[in-house]
Amino acid sequence: MVLSPLKQQISKLKKERNAVILAHNYQLGELQEIADYVGDSLELAREATKTDADVIVFCGVRFMAETAKILNPEKTVLMPVKEAGCPMADMATAEQLREMRKQHSGAIVVCYVNSSAEVKAESDVCCTSGNAVNVVESLLNSEIIFVPDRNLGAYVQLIVEGKKIILWPGYCPAHVELREDDVEQLKRVRPSAKFIAHPECNTEVLKLADAVCSTSGMLKYAEESPSVEFIIGTEVGLLYRLRKENPDKRFYPAGKMLCPDMKMTTVVDVKRSLEYIEHIINVPEHVANRARRSLERMLEL
Ligand code: SF4
Repeated sequence: MVLSPLKQQISKLKKERNAVILAHNYQLGELQEIADYVGDSLELAREATKTDADVIVFCGVRFMAETAKILNPEKTVLMPVKEAGCPMADMATAEQLREMRKQHSGAIVVCYVNSSAEVKAESDVCCTSGNAVNVVESLLNSEIIFVPDRNLGAYVQLIVEGKKIILWPGYCPAHVELREDDVEQLKRVRPSAKFIAHPECNTEVLKLADAVCSTSGMLKYAEESPSVEFIIGTEVGLLYRLRKENPDKRFYPAGKMLCPDMKMTTVVDVKRSLEYIEHIINVPEHVANRARRSLERMLEL
C-alpha cells in the first residue's frame, strides 16, 4: 500500500519515538486508519496496559488520555488536541461526589470511565458501558451511587436485581438528542432493520432497541447478526468502522448524534503531537494512585 507523505511522516515519527496510536471508535475515519488500535473505552484501557511503547498518542477525549496515564505512570501520554473534553465527565466533580457519599454513607460508588481522574479517585470501582452490569452485579453492597451517567445507571438498574442505584444527574449531550419519535419513524421506513442502541441513550429509546451495547458490542452484534440492515443509536463516528468491517450490510444513523469533542483531532494534529511531543498528559500522583485502584478493580473483573 502506498502511504501519503503525511502518513509516511507519522510512521517515521512513531518509530523514532517508539510510540503507539490509540483511537476511540468515535474518532474521524482518517484517524482510525492511522491508529495501531481502535476500540471502545474498555478495550483502549486494556490496550494501554499491554503496550511496550514509550509514548501513547491518545486520539479521543481527555478522560481517556488520563486513564491511559493513570494505568501507565511511567509512559508519556500525549493528546494531540488538549481541548477535547467530555461534557458528561464535566457534570461531576470530586467535591460533589464527596457530598453525595455523606448523604448515603453505606453506599459504594461506581463511576463510569467517562469521568475525571479526581472523580475516579473518589470512587470505589470504575466501569464502562460494556461491563457496567457485570461490575454492579459483582458488588456485595446493595446501595450504589452511579456517577455520572444517569442513563447508563438507569439501564443497569433495569437489569440488575436486588440493588438500589442512586443516579447522578449527568448525561451525554450527543446521546440524549435521540428521541423515541426519531427511532419509531426510522423503524417504519426500515422495517427489517435491527435497532442497536448505546446505553447512554434515554431509557424510552433503549426500550425500542433490539440490542443495547457498547460500541464494540455493536460491532460484534452487526457482524454476527443474520440481518443486513441496522439502525445505529450512537455517535455517528462508529458508522465508519461498521461499514468498513461489514461491506455487505447497511447501516443508518438513528439521528444526528455528533460529539464535537470527538471530532476535534485530525491526522495533522497527530503528526504535530509526535513531532513536538505535545500535549503531555499528567495526573497528580496522589489522585492517580487512588484512581488506579478503581480502574484496576474493574480490569480484574
Ligand atoms: S460522546 Fe458523549 S460521553 Fe462520549 S465524549 Fe462525547 S459527550 Fe462525552
